[in-house]
Amino acid sequence: MALSTPPGAGALAVVRLSGPDAIRITQALFSKKNLAAQPGHTVHYGTLRDPESHVVLDEVVVALYRGPRSYTREDVVEISGHGSDFIVRQIMAALLRQGARLAEAGEFTKRAFLSGALDLAQAEAVADLIAADSALSHQVALNQLRGGFSDELRGLRARLVQFAALLELELDFGEEDVEFADRTGLGRLLAEVQGVVAGLLRSFELGNVIKNGITTVIAGRPNAGKSTLLNALLREERAIVSATPGTTRDFIEDEVTIDSLRFRFVDTAGLRDNPADEVEAIGVRRTRERIGQAALLLYVFDLTELTPADVQADIAELTATLPSLPVLAVGNKLDLATPAQLAAFREWDSKRQEVALISAGQRRGLEELQAALLGQVRGAGLAGTGTSTIVTNVRHARALEVAVQHLGAVREGLGLGRGTELLAADLRHALAALGEITGEVSSDDLLTSIFTQFCIGK
Ligand code: GDP
Repeated sequence: MALSTPPGAGALAVVRLSGPDAIRITQALFSKKNLAAQPGHTVHYGTLRDPESHVVLDEVVVALYRGPRSYTREDVVEISGHGSDFIVRQIMAALLRQGARLAEAGEFTKRAFLSGALDLAQAEAVADLIAADSALSHQVALNQLRGGFSDELRGLRARLVQFAALLELELDFGEEDVEFADRTGLGRLLAEVQGVVAGLLRSFELGNVIKNGITTVIAGRPNAGKSTLLNALLREERAIVSATPGTTRDFIEDEVTIDSLRFRFVDTAGLRDNPADEVEAIGVRRTRERIGQAALLLYVFDLTELTPADVQADIAELTATLPSLPVLAVGNKLDLATPAQLAAFREWDSKRQEVALISAGQRRGLEELQAALLGQVRGAGLAGTGTSTIVTNVRHARALEVAVQHLGAVREGLGLGRGTELLAADLRHALAALGEITGEVSSDDLLTSIFTQFCIGK
């Protein structure tokens, strides 16, 4: 049993029970009807009373699901009452006295997995779906929940299992020199599976972007207007805006969704050649570190202070070790710039480097800036089409890496004419790694580490 809606005051609170006694325990509090005689997928309005004190607890609606046609495949009852912590506590205390126990984090989903209603990748998608906050991350999680990813893996695995079985059979024949598994066919299949798995691994980079956002570092000289820009993008005053150079010392991270892509903006301390004091020197060093982790760099500068050559030199310095990092130059303080200054950058923009001209302070040019950001991201291949399978989970990516390695070892072994025993062992490892993703191969530790990350009540 658990509260499945967020705690605190709300219109509704849903307490969920799962297990063979769920209906009996609910009936002990419920005023009307013989719940035990009701079919599944029905709802019942009535009063909940404490069976010992007979105090009325709440007017509720009880939804009944009978196993196996339920989330966990067990009998499930969902009691929707009024969203008050006090009422919920009273109801749960009364249910506990009737023999219910509190669910652990993710226990309903874990039971769904253990009963075979969901495989492991699907169960993990439940958590992703709850956390999804953009159209793309939602779409990817939903595809995984519906089993798209699992089906693809199971298909690959099933074909490998056939060969593995033939290899095992050869081992059973021991001394006799028989070959049941066609080596050429196995080689071809391995190459194909390895290709698919490598493709899934590549999609992880994109999956990471979809799930965690595109890390976009905002850098530039002090007073260029970086904090003002971040505020304008966030449409709220989060960063500290000050007129004294070099005062943004902490990193401020925030997320903005543009056209269903999530950008995680990181504002940095201003970059200066000769930082005035030690604290700022540390800030500058950390800025460079952050740029190293960025998927995209927004270089912000003051249009009234720098020439195109200055900007180019700054960008070249910032990205010296990161030649492939996409950079968008943002010329700020459009409102103060002279026509000659603007003309210089417009010409530069048309010839060399894309520059977005904005006024962060007056919130001008922000739509063009957003369009340019999207252009950079799409150009860098960071935005997917959302149709093919995308790996978003670190655990899955690790397992795929292990699988690729072992598949490679089998192929190598085939090429070198290694004995069946070695081939079979590597193939077993590869199969185990693929099976770990969907939970065909799992351990208690693995399950615990996955499900304890869930919220209680799911
Ligand atoms: P940072 O050091 O790069 O983070 O710069 P800030 O965002 O703190 O801005 C420095 C100063 O420039 C502040 O006084 C801002 O109000 C001002 N500022 C920022 N954007 C604009 C703009 O578009 N036009 C004008 N006129 N001033 C701006």
